[in-house]
Amino acid sequence: MDFRYSAAEDAFRMELRVWLAEHLSRHFAPGELDEEQDPDIRFEKLLAWHRAMYAGGWVGIHWPRIYGGRGASLIEQLVYAEEMGLANAPPPINPIAIMMVGPTLMQWGTEAQKQRFIPKMLSDEEIWCQGYSEPNAGSDLASLQTRAVEDGDDFIVNGQKVWTSLAHRSHWCILLCRTDPNARKHLGISYLLVDMRSPGITVRPLAQITGDAEFNEVFFENVRVPKANLVGRQNEGWQVATTTLAFERVGLGAVYQFDRLMRELVALARRRTLNGRRAIDDSYVRQRLAALAIDVAALRYTQYRQVTQRLRGEPPGPEASVAKLFGTELNLRMVSFASEILGPAGLIDRRSGRGDETAKWLRRVLAARAFTIGGGTSEVQRNIIGERVLKLPRG
Ligand SMILES: Cc1cc2nc3c(=O)[nH]c(=O)nc-3n(C[C@H](O)[C@H](O)[C@H](O)COP(=O)(O)OP(=O)(O)OC[C@H]3O[C@@H](n4cnc5c(N)ncnc54)[C@H](O)[C@@H]3O)c2cc1C
Repeated sequence: MDFRYSAAEDAFRMELRVWLAEHLSRHFAPGELDEEQDPDIRFEKLLAWHRAMYAGGWVGIHWPRIYGGRGASLIEQLVYAEEMGLANAPPPINPIAIMMVGPTLMQWGTEAQKQRFIPKMLSDEEIWCQGYSEPNAGSDLASLQTRAVEDGDDFIVNGQKVWTSLAHRSHWCILLCRTDPNARKHLGISYLLVDMRSPGITVRPLAQITGDAEFNEVFFENVRVPKANLVGRQNEGWQVATTTLAFERVGLGAVYQFDRLMRELVALARRRTLNGRRAIDDSYVRQRLAALAIDVAALRYTQYRQVTQRLRGEPPGPEASVAKLFGTELNLRMVSFASEILGPAGLIDRRSGRGDETAKWLRRVLAARAFTIGGGTSEVQRNIIGERVLKLPRG
């Protein structure tokens, strides 16, 4: 593995660093986003930031140039992630479109679908959500029961999805439906692009333990979807769906936020007292911080190893599950350790009106568990690693 960057990669890093230094502080005061309690105001601020990044050419840099990206190399993507993390810059919104739906359509979409949908993704003119999970189909996604029945040039969709992130803000949804109830469960599924403004769709927000409501239940009652919005072949949507999932796991494995989190934890331990002295002077705290720093480094080198494999021309494989599993569990360990440092004060909620840093950490602790579930639970990732990476026998 060669850790040096080329002159062109260094130039790319500087271009982004300078752009961020110039633009970020115009959009956010330090800590502003952590403290913002109104989800609509928060969203509007993130939208404005996204649009500034888009105007600067910093959204979807991995997309090919013909679709508005920069055709960034894997190393440039890594540099991008590092610089965004270093600057504490919020990532672009519309992640489902940019990370998953766009690349899936580039691979599977018809020319008409590519032309209609892809151009409005990076610019955020159209926000997307992912209608996969159902009340009885999460880890076992292929058990899904939402039905799509042919009717002339349309499908008619009936059923329910759940945990649909961003559905309340979305214009479009990638929807998995059963189109052949008699086929074996992975075979009778189709992948549709559904206009969220269609009659018959009801979106009901689900409040999370953090107090936010970022995901939803979505009900479909006789919703008409044109057949032109079928991606891939009818009843063969499972293949398209797994392409999307592979992009999701690659995206979720990004490590860039961990260096910043590590720095914040050390700063917290310097500021807070534990047993009558600075927490950072406590040997237990120091050992725990060291162990977490080692885990962050291990995750970084795991990611570098994956990038090296890709540079050698090997396709992304189930190894993405390693980064997803380890990264989300590490995040949980790190923010939970902040609670230990804070002690009882770590239980003070932002709704108490106390705007200090304890509320920020509590919110992170409460949100961290969700990342170990969304995009495939830790248990499911362990199964994938055991069976497909380590080739262990199936239990
Ligand atoms: C923050 C968040 C955002 C999400 N956003 C979306 C979204 O936008 N769109 C969408 O479609 N879905 C979304 N989801 C849903 C997510 O994909 C599912 O929650 C996840 O796949 C697990 O499914 P489930 O909740 O039905 O749990 P289940 O599958 O019912 O699992 C329950 C428990 O059983 C364990 N388990 C299940 N099967 C196995 C097995 N074979 N071996 C060992 N253990 C097993 C699981 O690990 C878990 O602990 C989101 C979830 C979260 C938390």
